[in-house]
Amino acid sequence: MAQGKIYTLGISACLLGEKVRFNAGHKRSAFCAETLATQAELIPVCPEVAIGLPVPRKAIRLMHDGDDLRVVPSKGEAGDVDYGPALRDVGKAFMARHPNLDGFVFMNDSPSCGPAHVKTYRANGYQAGRDGVGFFARAVQEINPLLPVEDAGRLNDPAIRENFMVRIGVYRDWRQLNRAPLTAGSLIKFYSPYKYLLMAHSQVAYKQVGRLLANHEQRPVEDVAQDFIEALMAGLKVLADRKGHANVLMHLLGYFKKHLDSDDRQEVLAVIHNYRKGIIPLVTPVTLFQHHLRRAPNAYLQAQKYWQPHAPELGLRSAI
Ligand code: SF4
Repeated sequence: MAQGKIYTLGISACLLGEKVRFNAGHKRSAFCAETLATQAELIPVCPEVAIGLPVPRKAIRLMHDGDDLRVVPSKGEAGDVDYGPALRDVGKAFMARHPNLDGFVFMNDSPSCGPAHVKTYRANGYQAGRDGVGFFARAVQEINPLLPVEDAGRLNDPAIRENFMVRIGVYRDWRQLNRAPLTAGSLIKFYSPYKYLLMAHSQVAYKQVGRLLANHEQRPVEDVAQDFIEALMAGLKVLADRKGHANVLMHLLGYFKKHLDSDDRQEVLAVIHNYRKGIIPLVTPVTLFQHHLRRAPNAYLQAQKYWQPHAPELGLRSAI
């Protein structure tokens, strides 16, 4: 990993301004090329160029062919052309070359890179739906279903952007944990700082993970670990809304019972209330809690990733 970068991400090359699109243009994303690049080593790939298509080139699209999808030129007779298998092979090769990714940012709406909701067409040229997945993106996701992925269009939404940054951080930590053999103890220790973060995202996953790690059935640790990380990543994919965060903040307030006088407690309650109502951003109650935590230190609470699941300079919690 490049020095100073805390994540390693794959990315569709056109999002970094590379002029690799069918029309020799790009789709530069300022968030990816400027903000994300300060945090992550970004590994660009253009699968269509990688399979040997020229720049510029004819546009391509997903076409239904019976139960299958093919990747064919957008204009003219498709014949028996299908770029799909080659794009899939590029995905497999990319993942083999880069086994240590923390996530992937894909260009949306692309028959090669779109991770979901890509337009599909019938053989007669009419649009069939938005049920397609780009062939390169599909291969990446099939090889590693746990890998946090997002499309660049959705990353314009502050809540989705924040969610993606949370997930790549957790997945990076999980990869690091797996460098040593897992034990029941190491799993519990890993999860402990993530409890409140998961609670904010999904109560269902929070309960599920608690049951898994209790392991009353005495299952092998490898099986527990697989179910655990699947449940954790799926739970974190759920967007944490104001209700979820306010619930967590109320739980956390319980730890301060003995340390807050009535005025301080009322102030915290008012801030949580205003946050829940959408009047102030999440960063405000979190900052107030951290202030009280400094005055009344508690190692378990201070270790919670909930306070700062990504770099504060990104300002992500000022926007949700
Ligand atoms: S969307 Fe993917 S295939 Fe299309 S230009 Fe961008 S990187 Fe290349």
